[in-house]
Amino acid sequence: MQKTAKSKIISLKEILKAVPSSDKKSRELVEKAYNFAKKAHEGQKRYSGDPYFVHVAETGKALADMEMSATTIAAGLLHDTIEDTDVTAEDIQREFGDEILHLVEGVTKLGHVRYHGMKRHAESLRKLFAATAQDVRVMIIKLMDRLHNARTLKYVPEHKRARIAIETLEIYAPIADRLGMGVIKKELEDAAFPYAYPKEYEKAYKVFKELGGEDTKRLEKIHKSVKKKLVEYGIKNFRTSVRIKGLYSLYKKLERKNWDSTKIKDIFALRVIVNEVPDCYNVLSVIHSEWTPLPGKLKDYIALPKPNGYRSIHTTIHTGDGGFLEIQIRTEEMHKEAQYGVASHLTYKESTWKNAKSGSGMSWIKQFFPSAWTADKKVSCVVPKDEFKHKHKHYAKYSVPEWIRHLAEDAQCEDPNEFLSDIKSDFFTHRIFVFTPKGDVIDLPIGATPIDFAFAIHSDIGRHVSGAKVNGKMESLDKELQNGDIVEILTSKSARPTRKWLDAVKTTMAKKHIKNCLQKERKENSK
Ligand code: MN
Repeated sequence: MQKTAKSKIISLKEILKAVPSSDKKSRELVEKAYNFAKKAHEGQKRYSGDPYFVHVAETGKALADMEMSATTIAAGLLHDTIEDTDVTAEDIQREFGDEILHLVEGVTKLGHVRYHGMKRHAESLRKLFAATAQDVRVMIIKLMDRLHNARTLKYVPEHKRARIAIETLEIYAPIADRLGMGVIKKELEDAAFPYAYPKEYEKAYKVFKELGGEDTKRLEKIHKSVKKKLVEYGIKNFRTSVRIKGLYSLYKKLERKNWDSTKIKDIFALRVIVNEVPDCYNVLSVIHSEWTPLPGKLKDYIALPKPNGYRSIHTTIHTGDGGFLEIQIRTEEMHKEAQYGVASHLTYKESTWKNAKSGSGMSWIKQFFPSAWTADKKVSCVVPKDEFKHKHKHYAKYSVPEWIRHLAEDAQCEDPNEFLSDIKSDFFTHRIFVFTPKGDVIDLPIGATPIDFAFAIHSDIGRHVSGAKVNGKMESLDKELQNGDIVEILTSKSARPTRKWLDAVKTTMAKKHIKNCLQKERKENSK
C-alpha cells in the first residue's frame, strides 16, 4: 500500500521570521528565491506524494532557524533547482549572482550521464567535499537537505532506503559532529538508525525502555526538584531543558560497554543554562551540595573543551530514587554552539569568522584549526576544472576547518571506492589532538603515529623524519600517539620514507605522500 503524507508547505512568512525585519534587501532576496524555487519545482512530487517544494521550503526553514544569512537561506531554497528542474546554472547566475550559484552548484550532484551507480555517488561526494573546502556553507546546506531527506525516509522505496540511511549515519552525522552541530548530528542519527540497522535499532530500543527512557514522569519530578533547589540557593537567571538520549548514541555506547546496560547512566540529562561562566560553577556547587555525584563522572569541558569545541560541565548524580541523572551546565553561548557549532558562527549577526574578537565565541574553535584562520591563505584544494562551469571567487571569509581541506585533497585519489572507505575510516575512528612544542594543535585519527604527525605539519617534514620525541622522550616512529601528547619531530636531509612507514601510518594524507616518494625513488633507481 502506498503511504502518503500530507505535509504543509512552509510559508514564506515563516521563513522570513528568522530574517531581521530591518534588512529589506535580505528579505527581498529570500522572497525571490522562494518564489523562483516554487515555480521551478511546480508539478514535481516527493516519494511521499507531497509537492517537491515541501522539501525545499523545509531546507530553507532549517537554515533560517539557525539564523544563517539571507544568501545561505536563498541558496538552500534553490539547492535542487539545477539538479532536478529545467533551471540551468546560467539562470541562477543571472538571477542570483555568483555567490549563490557557487553554493547551489556545490550541493548539486553530478549528472547521470557522466557517471553511473556507485561511481556517480562517490564522485558526487568528492565534489561536495571540494566545494565545502572552499566554503563551509555548502556542507551546512547539504546537512539540512539531508536532514529533511532522513526524516522522510519511510516514504523512500525500500531498495534505496537502507543505502541513504547508512550513508547518513556513516558520513553526514559524523560530519555534523565534527562541525560541532550536536542537534543536527542527533537528529540525523535518530532519523536514519531504524532504516539503516533495523535489528540493532530494536535491540537498542528494548534497552532504552528497560532503563526507563520512556518514564518522563520520573524525569519531570527530578527536573522540578533541581529547579527548586537552584532557586532556594539564590541562583536567579537560569533556564533548564531536558535531553533524552538518542537511540543511535545509546546503541554505540552499548557496543562500547559490551551491552552492559548498568553502565548507562545518561538516558536522561538535564541542562542548566546560565548567563556567565562563573554561574556554571555556582550551579555545580549547588548540585553537588544537594545530591551525591557519581565518582569519575564530573567533566569540566569548559576549562578543557572537547576536540570539536564542545563546552559544558557534566556531572552525574544519584537522584535518590535509585536512578541517575546527568546534569549539563553551560552558558547560553555554549548552548548555541553545542547545538549548531560552526553554523552558530556564520549567522547574520556575526558576519565573518575572521572578525571574531578573541574571547568571543569563536576563540574555542580557532585553537583547534590553527592554520585555517587566515582568510587570505590560499585554499590548497584543487577543484577539478570541468566540474565548475563558472569561475568562482573563493569565499574564503567563511573559513574552512583544516580537516575538510584534507578530505578534499583525499578526494582526488583515483579510485572512488577507495575514497569512500577512506572518509569512513577517517570519521569512524575518533580523533586525537596532539600538540607541537609551540602549542599548535594537530588533529589526527586514533592510532596515528609521529609519521602522521610529521606529514600533517608539512610534507617536507614528513619526508625527512629521522626521529621523534613524545613528551620529551625519544620514541620509535610507529609509536601510537595519545590525546594531548606533545610531539617534536627530528629531521635529517638523508632520511627517506620506507615501505615500513606505510604500515605505521593512519592518515590517508601521509599514505599518499609516502607512496609518491617510494614511486619516485623507484623510477629514479630504474633510470
Ligand atoms: Mn534536496
